[in-house]
Amino acid sequence: MNTHTKITQLDDLHFDNRFVRELPADEEPLNTRRQVFGACYSRVLPTQVVNPHCIIYAQEVADLLDLSPEVCASNEFTQVFAGNRLAKGMDAYSTCYGGHQFGNWAGQLGDGRAILLGDVINQRGERWALQLKGAGVTPYSRGSDGLAVLRSSVREFLCSEAMHHLGVPTTRALSLSLTGETVIRDMFYNGNPRAELGAVVCRVAPSFTRFGHFQILAARKDSALLKQLADYTIRTDFPELGEPSTAVYGQWFNEVCRRTAEMVVHWQRVGFVHGVMNTDNMSILGLTIDYGPYGWLENYDPHWTPNTTDAEERRYRFGNQAAIAYWNLVQLANALYPLIEQVELLKAALAVYEQTFEQNWQAMMAAKLGLTTFDEALCGELLELLPIVETDMTIFYRKLALIDSNMSVTDAIEQLADAYYVPEQLTANYLTQLHQWLSGYIQRLQQEGVADEVRRAGMNAVNPHYVLRNYLAQLAIDDAEQGDFAKLHELLALLRDPYSEQADKQHLAAKRPDWARQRAGCSMLSCSS
Ligand code: AMP
Ligand code: MG
Repeated sequence: MNTHTKITQLDDLHFDNRFVRELPADEEPLNTRRQVFGACYSRVLPTQVVNPHCIIYAQEVADLLDLSPEVCASNEFTQVFAGNRLAKGMDAYSTCYGGHQFGNWAGQLGDGRAILLGDVINQRGERWALQLKGAGVTPYSRGSDGLAVLRSSVREFLCSEAMHHLGVPTTRALSLSLTGETVIRDMFYNGNPRAELGAVVCRVAPSFTRFGHFQILAARKDSALLKQLADYTIRTDFPELGEPSTAVYGQWFNEVCRRTAEMVVHWQRVGFVHGVMNTDNMSILGLTIDYGPYGWLENYDPHWTPNTTDAEERRYRFGNQAAIAYWNLVQLANALYPLIEQVELLKAALAVYEQTFEQNWQAMMAAKLGLTTFDEALCGELLELLPIVETDMTIFYRKLALIDSNMSVTDAIEQLADAYYVPEQLTANYLTQLHQWLSGYIQRLQQEGVADEVRRAGMNAVNPHYVLRNYLAQLAIDDAEQGDFAKLHELLALLRDPYSEQADKQHLAAKRPDWARQRAGCSMLSCSS
């Protein structure tokens, strides 16, 4: 796009706030915490903040909105995206949803600290909803303050963009602003509250509709509104399916199942653990949404979860994400039943989830290993081998790509050395198993006969060199809390191109240093944010 077509004032953005126009509003005008019945949203203004300061924005997301760099650097941008002002055409509101939290129905949740500003229609005709997170209380805030701290906002901002550039479906982040105010948080809920810096992230997505938006209406037996929201969602977010009908509801749920499967396979590919896969944190568009106590696998461990709130049951551990997504889809199926009233249609769609997951997972694993077809034995053996000793997942797959089909197994083992955290764990017994696996792998490469460079390029396009390692995010947070945003900018720039090795950035691909093993924020996170 030519720069002269860029928008130079936020008031020139074109809004089409279809959600508020077509769906029923809560009639109560006051911003008091309450149960909201018979409505999809409540109008609510962001809370004013004393001294907003936009510390970073994502150029690619500004581009989606046709915003010029000048407008992003303006005071107007700072004021609007910290919640102090509405630009022309904005109509602020929070939405009503429910959800299952950790397997239990939790009733009404809703946007407790998220305020939508409306949908921008960009010059390509795309719809992009803008949402402030951390801009103050809403009718859905329940017992909390509606605010967010810098720590969790840095994590949301960076990870949204990192995931996008990794090719994982996700909501996006336009900006991250300090509010100039402090927020009290007890990070580990253990009686140690402290004042932290308040922050607001502006998130951007085609829509922020969650499974829980449908669940709350089904739970309240409001079938008329359930149908209205489903019809709205199909017409707005799935127009290719055609006009709503029983058959189209079925196709729509089918599509939600398919997209959810695709998304989770991507998570497994890059080693992402969402951490809080409650049904209110599941996007109807199959986008990764709500970056809270997420984490990245360092040593490959299917049982790992970063979320200390889930430390006992480990419901949302890496190796359980596919099963949980299915469980969540079953809850959505239950919610949609009154619309469809055909169990077989819903079951068929759930089967599509399983098929899509299996098919995509096999293709993904084959690609990670650089094989032209999935090899069940080779893949299964590797996934048993990886957790035996602490093996950095990201480094392992990049190093695996360096193995040539005519290499000796001893040389191949040498190539992988950097992926291991504790050399003493590499016992003779383990090395024998690794030797066996590698000789099978090399044999398979020889059979396939693909040129090493070609295979390597393919592997390096699906196995990232850089991910948002937990300790890197924490280092950027430590500095940001001291007013130094250099690392934050460095990580955003780095993660724009995660599959290429970047000059002078090798240290950002390094495995977790020992100090980060048990440090809060690096390996352990809570829901406090
Ligand atoms: P989560 O699991 O973090 O996505 O949030 C679950 C629910 O709690 C959602 O309804 C959130 O809006 C709400 N929530 C989380 N943090 C806050 C907060 N600081 N103030 C108000 N509501 C919040
Ligand atoms: Mg949430």
